[in-house]
Amino acid sequence: MSSGLEDGITPGRDAVLPAPHKFGKRLQTSSPVHRKPAIMQEPVLVLNATFEPINVTAVRRAMVLLLKGVAQAEETNPTEVHATSRTMKVPSVIRLLAYRHIPQQTRALSRKNILLRDRNTCQFCGNIFPTAELTLDHVVPRSRGGRSSWENLVACCYQCNNRKGDRTPEEAGIKLARRPRPFTLYTSRQLMRLLGYRDEKWRKYLFY
Ligand SMILES: [Zn+2]
Repeated sequence: MSSGLEDGITPGRDAVLPAPHKFGKRLQTSSPVHRKPAIMQEPVLVLNATFEPINVTAVRRAMVLLLKGVAQAEETNPTEVHATSRTMKVPSVIRLLAYRHIPQQTRALSRKNILLRDRNTCQFCGNIFPTAELTLDHVVPRSRGGRSSWENLVACCYQCNNRKGDRTPEEAGIKLARRPRPFTLYTSRQLMRLLGYRDEKWRKYLFY
């Protein structure tokens, strides 16, 4: 956790914004906050000092930021938890006290982030798959000079991957669901909105 600011706040290199179904996989008992594990994994919206939504983290991480005085709670849930020596309401939305510059290109090119961008949806058949049942497809095959880039890599199920083989989508007679793009803050915000639909308190920050 190094300085404590890299992970969990800005959508940095190995970003924290998880796929909705992935929430709560990371549970660290070394944290000062370790009661009621289920609630500790609930998503919390992180706002920049300017109220601009920048990320989603888990309650556990959000509470560490509150205890460190790095952020303040803007919205809370009625549930209370004990954190170190005090009782706190579980945050739903937190805001960083110091403004943080968010670079345009926010994510590292990785399998995880491509699946996140494509929302675990095969970009050829349009079906949603568990992570283990997806692979990455080079839209323009590597053998034709296709690069490993945001614009040329998509989530793909094994069946479509076999069907396509070493061909372009045109040659294989299959169509891309949408043009692949880099993972930007805009993509992050779309994902935040998807997550935010379930939490009334997030809406005013996400839908404007
Ligand atoms: Zn498919």
